[in-house]
Amino acid sequence: MSDHENIVTPAGPAVLRRTDRRTLAISVLPSGNLELTAPHESTVDAIQGKVGKRLRWIAKQRADFAAMRHNRLPLRYESGATHTYLGRQYRLKVSRGEPATVRLRGAYFYITALTVSAAEVETLLDEWMRQKAAVQFSRRLAVWEPWCRHRRLPLPKLSLRRMSKRWGSAGAGGRIALNPVLVRAPSICIDYVIAHEVCHLKHPAHNRAFFRLLESVFPRWREAKLRLESASGIPALEL
Ligand SMILES: [Zn+2]
Repeated sequence: MSDHENIVTPAGPAVLRRTDRRTLAISVLPSGNLELTAPHESTVDAIQGKVGKRLRWIAKQRADFAAMRHNRLPLRYESGATHTYLGRQYRLKVSRGEPATVRLRGAYFYITALTVSAAEVETLLDEWMRQKAAVQFSRRLAVWEPWCRHRRLPLPKLSLRRMSKRWGSAGAGGRIALNPVLVRAPSICIDYVIAHEVCHLKHPAHNRAFFRLLESVFPRWREAKLRLESASGIPALEL
């Protein structure tokens, strides 16, 4: 999306985009940055004035996001710790025993472990998440097969890869790697990451054509992106 300009508002610098909408939309991003979407005919003066009337609301949004970032503490692997799966929160109940198992029942992950050390519980839960990720991701990716076939694109081939900075990547021949940690995020976020990577099979770069395609195949991508960036219990990674 290249048709934007940087302006200064009473709430600080902001990115301004022009669209066919009829009113000004003000968004505070999880980073605290301000994004404005305005009608083509609005003057920068008028936009600055409108932002000036929303200062209290903008400050509240920024404070909420800052608190959320603060809440992004390292995960704990002991009884009582909270972990998310498909965007829902569950608590761990760890007990000693064998065989080592992980079961999801009601609001809890019941984990049976030999030593109940944090490292062992982490390994068990990671393995459980990885298995669920394989099932969830391949089912959601399979939906795209007819779409790819129709466009003579290579059929997506999924692999799971733990990456420290990224949710996913797309490579030659339809290879799509997804971070198994993504299975902790809400479904709409998983579908968004998959749509994003599938669009890369057609357009490798984040250029205008890429975003136009993403917009047409996944119109709710902005909402999903925002949720992915602000969801608690998952790391802050990039696409
Ligand atoms: Zn990308």
